[in-house]
Amino acid sequence: MLLTKEPTSNTPIGKLIREVFIPWGLEAAFIDMTDLDQVHKGVQANTRLILVETPSNPLLKITDIAAVVEIARQAGAWVLCDSTVATPILQQPLNLGADLALHATTKYLGGHSDVLGGVLVARQESLLWERVRFLQRNGGAVPSPFECWLATRGIDTLPYRMRTQAENALKIAHFLNGHPQVEKVYYPGLPEHPGHQLAARQMTAFGGLLSFQVKGDQSHSMQVAARLRLITRATSFGGTHSLIEHRASIEEPGTTTPENLLRLSIGLEHPDDLITDLDQALT
Ligand SMILES: *Cc1c(COP(=O)(O)O)cnc(C)c1O
Repeated sequence: MLLTKEPTSNTPIGKLIREVFIPWGLEAAFIDMTDLDQVHKGVQANTRLILVETPSNPLLKITDIAAVVEIARQAGAWVLCDSTVATPILQQPLNLGADLALHATTKYLGGHSDVLGGVLVARQESLLWERVRFLQRNGGAVPSPFECWLATRGIDTLPYRMRTQAENALKIAHFLNGHPQVEKVYYPGLPEHPGHQLAARQMTAFGGLLSFQVKGDQSHSMQVAARLRLITRATSFGGTHSLIEHRASIEEPGTTTPENLLRLSIGLEHPDDLITDLDQALT
C-alpha cells in the first residue's frame, strides 16, 4: 500500500497510480500530507511507501519531511520525497531521513525549458533499489546522452539561478499580496502562509514558484494572464524565463484547484520588470 498527497490524483504520477498500478493490485490512499494526524491514521499494516511532495504543486503546501519519516519508521515503510519544486539546493530530503528523493530535471535542474527528464536518488543500496535500477534499464526509462548533457549544463548554474529566482519570487509575492485585484497569494516565504515556519526550518530559501488567485471568475483570471507581455503563458516551470499558467484548465474536471488561480514561475528577469508587467495586466 502507498500513501500519497491528495492532489496527486490529478498529476501524471496520480494517473499512473489510479489507472495502472491500482488495477494491478496496488492499494493507495490519497491524503493531505500536511496533516500529520491523517498520515498517522492512513498508515496500514501493509503500507510500504509514503510519497511526499513538498513544496507541493500548485498550492505550495509544505509537509514536514522528518515527521513523516518518523511515522514511516514505526510502520516499516519507506519515504519518497518529490523535491522538484525545491531542488537539492533548497531542500535535502535524504538528510532529513527520506529513503528516496525525486526531481524532475525538466524543471530547475535543466533550468532552460529544453529537456524532459527526472532523477531518483536513494540514500543507500538495497535489494529494492537494485529492483528499481532493473526496472529503469529494462523498462527503457533511460535518457539519451544529449538530454544528460543538457541537464548537467543546467546544474552548473543551479545554485545561482535558485538564489536569484527565490529572491525575486519573494519580492513578487509581497507585491501581489498587497495588490487590490489579488484575492490570495500562495508562497511559503510569506509569514501568513501556514507552512512558513516549517519551510524556514527545512528549506534554505522559499523557491521560485508561487500561485495566486485573481479577484473574479475563471475568465477574468485568464484575461489577466493573456495581458502579460514579459511573462509567457505556458505549462511547466523552473526555466530562466518567467511562465504563467491557468492551472485548473489543464487539470482534470473536478479538480480542487480554484478556478481563478494562476501559477507563476519566476525566471531571471529583473523583478521590477516582472512587477510592472503584472501590475499592468491586473489593473
Ligand atoms: C513537473 C513535475 C514532475 C514531473 O516532471 P515532468 O518531467 O514534466 O514529467 C514531477 N513532480 C513535480 C512536483 C513536478 O512539478
